[in-house]
Amino acid sequence: MKKIKKTIRNIVFRYHSLSILKKFLLAPLFGLILVLPFYIFIFLNMLEMKQSVNSVNNELMPLQEISFNNILLLEKIVNEMNSAVSAKEVEWIDDSNKNADKIRENLNIYIDSSYKKEIKESITAFNNYYQTVKEVSAKIIQNNQCYTNIENDTKVLVQNYNEIDGLFKSLKLQIKNDIEKNFNSLYCNTNFILFNGNFIFSIWFFISTLIIFLVYRDIKYKIKRIVDDSKEIARGDVDFEKRLCIVSYDELGQIVKSINIFINKLHKSHEELSDAKKELDALYITDRLTNVFNRVKIDEILDTELKKKKRYDHTCSVILIDIDYFKLVNDTHGHLVGDSILKEFADILKESIRDTDYVGRWGGEEFIIVCPQTDQNGALSLAEHLRSKIEESHFTTAGKKTASFGIATCTDQDSAQSIIDNADKALYRAKGGGRNQVVCYQSLLV
Ligand code: GH3
Ligand code: MG
Ligand code: MG
Repeated sequence: MKKIKKTIRNIVFRYHSLSILKKFLLAPLFGLILVLPFYIFIFLNMLEMKQSVNSVNNELMPLQEISFNNILLLEKIVNEMNSAVSAKEVEWIDDSNKNADKIRENLNIYIDSSYKKEIKESITAFNNYYQTVKEVSAKIIQNNQCYTNIENDTKVLVQNYNEIDGLFKSLKLQIKNDIEKNFNSLYCNTNFILFNGNFIFSIWFFISTLIIFLVYRDIKYKIKRIVDDSKEIARGDVDFEKRLCIVSYDELGQIVKSINIFINKLHKSHEELSDAKKELDALYITDRLTNVFNRVKIDEILDTELKKKKRYDHTCSVILIDIDYFKLVNDTHGHLVGDSILKEFADILKESIRDTDYVGRWGGEEFIIVCPQTDQNGALSLAEHLRSKIEESHFTTAGKKTASFGIATCTDQDSAQSIIDNADKALYRAKGGGRNQVVCYQSLLV
């Protein structure tokens, strides 16, 4: 069972590997293989028919003619003997020798034919008869009065005559029957060949048409599948996860394979492009030194949050942060140390805010935190927390550092610019107040 399954799988695989043209050529080939035994059968039949015709032409017809002649010749011999006896001429008896020789000669020609036995019997019987008829005729002519055994001799003669006449006639009849038999068989064979020829042609035609139809259906199905798959892949957004189904290993399979390779390459390029775009996007909104958002992104976030404030009445606060006496760091330790402190400072801010808050570098050593849905108190506690954390931190080389914080909470009248201005004013007040402190803009208004 396993072996059969394997063989079938092998055949199916081989079929799918054939080129389309060869698949169509399978039709006449299979037809031919199936009808070949029939053709061999018909060919053998034709050979038999040819033999039969040859036998009729070369043996049976001449034999029939000879048999007919022999009967006539026998009658002639009887008449000649009668004439000799009637005329009482002994010499006339030998006149029949010519006809007797002719009969023997006729029979001897076909001594090796298929009627060998009958012909041998006929020759013996004829010789017997001819010998007897000659002797009896001579006795009748020569011993007219004193021939006493005439009755017995005549009996033997008649017996001999009947025997040879019977054999000649039976041979003639047998040949006639055989000729008829041959013609009947020829007729039957011709009918058989005609019928089977038509039958074979029908089978061949049917099988070829069936195979062509099946191959056509198979190829049509595969082309339809490829077209449908291609349409689906091309429809709407390109789906790079999809591939055309490998329907076979012929030319269609090659086309599908090439298209899939093309899609693979396209997919890879698309992924590379997407990654590059993501990187570019990130670069566009990220400050390269501190890795927090840059001013471009913070402007955008502020815009969005102000729109939300107007639409949903969500409050929002902004904290502006400036490192105290930063210039001193640069002057004392150099710009590189200043840069590393900016990075460490940004890291402290990033670690300390909520996931929903946004931190960005506003410029120089100034940072900004946008806190959506956060009122002044919330912003104040966050800023205080940050301030004390910075105060407690130890920065590389520079050691302890502090920062000043200015907070502004959005009102309905605020724009991005006005909030920043307000936060800046608060920051300015914090600097003026001795630094390392948090000031809210609202407290300035009181
Ligand atoms: P304070 O804010 O307390 O009034 O004093 P400050 O020394 O911080 O004063 P200011 O804000 O005027 O000085 C900012 C300094 O920050 C000036 C500049 O040298 C330095 N700075 C700005 N951007 C960078 C930067 O990207 N890297 C480094 N190393 N230094 C920077
Ligand atoms: Mg400054
Ligand atoms: Mg400063």
